[in-house]
Parts: sequence; structure tokens; C-alpha cells
Amino acid sequence: MPYILGPHISTAKGLHKAAETAVSIGANTFQFFSRNPRGSAYRDFPPDEIAALNQIMRQHRFGPLLAHAPYTLNLASAQDRAYEFACQTIFEDIRRMDAIGVTMLVLHPGSHTGLGTEKGIAKIVAGLTPALTGPESLTVLLETMSGKGTEIGYRFEELAAILRACGASSRLGICLDTCHVFAAGYDIARDLDAVLLEFDRVLGLERLWAIHLNDSLMPLGSRKDRHAPIGQGQIGMEALLAVMRHPALSHLPFYLETPLSDQEHGVEIAQILAAV
Ligand code: FE
Ligand code: FE
Ligand code: ZN
Repeated sequence: MPYILGPHISTAKGLHKAAETAVSIGANTFQFFSRNPRGSAYRDFPPDEIAALNQIMRQHRFGPLLAHAPYTLNLASAQDRAYEFACQTIFEDIRRMDAIGVTMLVLHPGSHTGLGTEKGIAKIVAGLTPALTGPESLTVLLETMSGKGTEIGYRFEELAAILRACGASSRLGICLDTCHVFAAGYDIARDLDAVLLEFDRVLGLERLWAIHLNDSLMPLGSRKDRHAPIGQGQIGMEALLAVMRHPALSHLPFYLETPLSDQEHGVEIAQILAAV
């Protein structure tokens, strides 16, 4: 298929098993957590598992996989322990993911928990900068956020400030989450072109590496983060298909984070590919 499309899949039984699942539901990529999303634990991936993964990816012409950093990681935290955990985890996971050949790791920039946006951004930059100094080639993608609580990165300007303060590192990019930008107030349902113009003006479309394709239960500008299956939210099927078809976006990898089982994701993928 011309599109690169796949859901988030559990790797509890191994990366190669996740890839097999992806194939079985008609996907040609997937997203997975770089470690336990709510804790800190991780297991090392044995070489035979990586070999099996690469075999499946080659055979089925997969697009790039996307690793997602744990939700517990907060590079803007005011608490020392949480901040140190975040700095250490992003440093480690860049290296762990690069070592198994994964080229992109998506990260929620962080929540300032009361410090204010400016101080929060300074902490994020101080944590990211040393993590990006190694010989790895992996690109860290900052995710566009919904703006719930004290989340940083729901305005394109905040993401641009992080990029700028990191010296516009070529190893930083953006992952646009359709649910999050809509909840943040960017109306991709009614005027996708205007949102993309704004993205290009503030961040540059060349920084956009991946799309999280989700519908949103919550309305435009609600700053609430509730994903819905494609076509069952406030953005709607046609608007999300328009995102996929857009000439500035259609070549990008699309990852579904809709609240569905693997099998249900298979149905969703078939519906999308039949309509797009
Ligand atoms: Fe995310
Ligand atoms: Fe997302
Ligand atoms: Zn979300």
C-alpha cells in the first residue's frame, strides 16, 4: 500500500511478535513503548528477536517503527527525583532504541507542574541537550500536546522555543497528534491548510516526521486529551482522511493511538485504506 500506517502494539511478547501482529491486521508499521509506559522497567531485546523483527519488516516492506517514551517521563518536572529519572531515561532510551535500529523516539515534552512555561522549557532543554550528544542517528520527536494541566508543547511556539534552545539540532523533529492539536485549538477539521501554514511558519514542515492519527472525543480547544476511534470523534473520518491525503503529509508514517484492540485496529485500518 502507498501509505505507511499502523497502530500502537504491545511488545510484551517481543518486537517480532508485535511485527507479526501488525502484518496480520494489515499494518506496515507500528508504534511501541521504549519501556514500561507507567514505570521505569525495561528488558533488553535479544539479538535473535531483532533479527526476526528485521526479517518481517523487510519481507513486508515496513515503514519506520516509532518508539514512544514512557508517560511517566517529565523533563519539565519541578521535583528533583522525577526530573532526574526523566533525564536518565531519555538518555538511555535514545541509545537503547538506536542500538536496535529504531530511527525515531517520540516524547511528550513535559508538564511544568507549576514552575511556569519558561522554566519548564529550560529544564526540558537542559535534559535533552546532553541526551543528543552521542554518535546515535536516532531522531527525537517532540509531540504536539493537548494542553491539559500544565503540559508544555500544545502551542507550536512552545515547541519552536525548545528546538531553538537546543540549537535547532538536526536530531529533533515533531510528531503531530491530530487529537492533541485539535484539542489544543488548531482546527484541522475545518481548515487543515491554515493549520499547516501555521505549523510551517512557526516550526517548518521539514521538522514534521510522523503523525499520530486519532479522532478526539473532546471539542476543538477543550485542552482535554481523549482519543476516539477514527470517525467516532469530533474531528471525523473525512477530515482525518484529508490529513492522510494532504500532499505535505501523505508520505509520512501514520500511527493510530485509538482505543481499540489489535483486531479492531485491523478493521479500522481496512476502513481507512478503502476510503483514503
Ligand atoms: Fe504520546
Ligand atoms: Fe499521541
Ligand atoms: Zn493523547
